[in-house]
Amino acid sequence: MDLGLDSKVVLITGGSKGIGEAITRTFLAEGAIVANVNRSSTEGEALEAEYAAQGKQCLFIQGDLTEVTACQRAVQTTLDKFGRIDVLVNNAGVNDGVALTDGPEAFVASLQRNLIHYYAMVHYALEALRNSRGAIVNIGSKVAATGQGGTSGYAAAKGGINGMTREWALDLAADKIRVNTVIPAETWTPLYAELINQSEDPQAAKQQIEDIIPLGKRFTTSQEIADMVVFLSSQRSLHTTGQIHYVDGGYTHLDRKYTSGSNNVDLSKS
Ligand code: NAP
Repeated sequence: MDLGLDSKVVLITGGSKGIGEAITRTFLAEGAIVANVNRSSTEGEALEAEYAAQGKQCLFIQGDLTEVTACQRAVQTTLDKFGRIDVLVNNAGVNDGVALTDGPEAFVASLQRNLIHYYAMVHYALEALRNSRGAIVNIGSKVAATGQGGTSGYAAAKGGINGMTREWALDLAADKIRVNTVIPAETWTPLYAELINQSEDPQAAKQQIEDIIPLGKRFTTSQEIADMVVFLSSQRSLHTTGQIHYVDGGYTHLDRKYTSGSNNVDLSKS
């Protein structure tokens, strides 16, 4: 399937690591040009050099997206360098565990880490996206639908992203800009591995999570998230907008009665 992404310009946030890195690499494999804004530099610079050696462009833009000026600069730098933006992927975020007990200041800071820059990136890239009739893909989280406890800021941010997905899809339909969100639930990344490795028995901790993932009893791969993001950004997805797409092996929506690792329900009788 030709996705028609050759030479398209993709601006991604947090494209150096984890899910973002997989998205960056998948767009590049499809022939796109990538601009990647990320806080830490090492991985982003390495990606830029790796792809430059192959004659491909993966521009690294250093910036902390909690500052809206970094969002504006990322958009401007991309336009100065490539002259257009065809796809915006809002991906950067962190489950920072800001809870009810942490207070309003911490809550606002969590929204800055996880929500405000999604809005700011779209705001600053709007004219360019109008010119290209581009696409926006946001990365959300299951927590907007499930709750998790102890993470009010992150949950509010991810709920807000779902809300803005529909809002923007309507706002921008006349401009033929499509807006979609992809939801990971349990996606295996180096950061996730690091967290699991902190538990007393990492193997058991991983197994416990895998047991409640219905499809294949395994984590989603970053590649599987990236494939959906790239498809939604492409010419093969021209009539899909305002949607929340769960790429989670059925984790969020399938009936726990049938999918919990500890149950004895005979699925053949259901
Ligand atoms: P990750 O491995 O930590 O990668 C996040 C990337 O974003 C890193 O490169 C990080 O750079 C960058 N970043 C974060 N905050 C930034 C900021 N303020 N300014 C600039 N760059 C920033 O995390 P991930 O698991 O791939 O998560 C990616 C997205 O998926 C997030 O929106 C997350 O909420 C969502 N998600 C993931 C899972 C999962 O299971 N992995 C589940 C649900 C939702 P630094 O290293 O410099 O911080």
